[in-house]
Amino acid sequence: MRLAVLKERLPGETRVAAVPDSIKKLKALGLDVVIEAGAGERASVSDAALREAGAEIAPDAASALKGAGIVFTVQPPGDEILAQIERGALLVGTLGAMGNQERVQAYAKAGIDACSMELLPRITRAQSMDVLSSQANLAGYRAVIEAAEAFPRGFAMMMTAAGTVPPARVFVVGAGVAGLQAIATARRLGAIVSATDVRPAAKEEIKSLGATFVGVEDEESKAQTGAYAKEMSAEFRAKQAALIAETVAKNDIVICTALVMGRKAPTIVTADAVAKMRMGSVIVDIAADAGGNCEATVPGERIVTENGVIVLGHRNWPSRIGVAASTLYARNLSTFLTGFWDKEAGRPKLPADDDIVKGVLLTRDGAVVHPNFQPQAA
Ligand code: NAD
Repeated sequence: MRLAVLKERLPGETRVAAVPDSIKKLKALGLDVVIEAGAGERASVSDAALREAGAEIAPDAASALKGAGIVFTVQPPGDEILAQIERGALLVGTLGAMGNQERVQAYAKAGIDACSMELLPRITRAQSMDVLSSQANLAGYRAVIEAAEAFPRGFAMMMTAAGTVPPARVFVVGAGVAGLQAIATARRLGAIVSATDVRPAAKEEIKSLGATFVGVEDEESKAQTGAYAKEMSAEFRAKQAALIAETVAKNDIVICTALVMGRKAPTIVTADAVAKMRMGSVIVDIAADAGGNCEATVPGERIVTENGVIVLGHRNWPSRIGVAASTLYARNLSTFLTGFWDKEAGRPKLPADDDIVKGVLLTRDGAVVHPNFQPQAA
């Protein structure tokens, strides 16, 4: 069976869905791996390295997709590519299904069995396939590195003969996978770190990394017992805004990572709070793809506010650390396929009653099978 990997088409996307290490694993399943020429270039993976790992290099997308029963991708394929994927093929990637019912219908219409990996359930068995976690972890790291680069002072306390430079104060908004990595990275660089979250479980995790917890603790936050945070009430948001404004003003760097699955990111750092920050302070908003946590964020841009605060609102943070992000992403996908590989048949087998399959499988045999994406009853 052929497995195809294409060059990503989205501007700014640097990742690739297969790397030499994952190709070896895919080959071990008996697959012929075909990769579009140049697909790995932006992740520093040459065609020669892919070929050496056992992949065939195809000159273009059409020839890579010809006869492919499986397609791995990072971003959802555009219409032109979708039209070239063979009917009956299995498509695996971050397919952006949430809030995009039309896209899901398009996969069904094209007769493609589509697995949207960002919908993977957060269960132990799925951890090694969890693209959201692997990518968020790297994004959290990269956010701090870019904050350090933009910050004109330095992170660690420096005691010199000429006097002492104080350590940077870093405040992390949202302590999920990205936020916890941001805390750890900022601490390693020598900053004094605090963080906030609405889930009570996050408080201990923040403290265990040596950071201070800042947050509103009330009945509403106590009820946040799920893996994902829910949208908070207007009353909670008002209490949180006051506390955050006060905290932000005391910090040099703010790293925003708060997300609510399937919704616009919550606004947590207001324009007023930004106006109270010192000149040269830095805000990194890795929630920018979902609208951002900071009112001053312009998604996709680096801006400097009137009071001299640098706000980095770049999109697609995993792509800013594309080599590591590709390595982990490709591993997530090869682990997923290996987990559902029928050795005797030499093809994937996705049992409808498996929890992971129930979570990710959008379409099968030309129909939408995922309960969350059923077409509205007429
Ligand atoms: P996420 O990307 O959905 O959100 C990031 C963080 O923002 C979360 O911690 C969330 O609570 C927080 N947040 C949302 N609204 C907020 C608000 N108004 N104010 C402050 N913070 C807010 O989260 P994530 O990184 O995907 O992680 C969510 C949880 O899932 C974590 O507890 C993580 O440890 C857990 N997880 C479990 C597994 C597993 O068991 N396999 C894998 C990955 C993550």
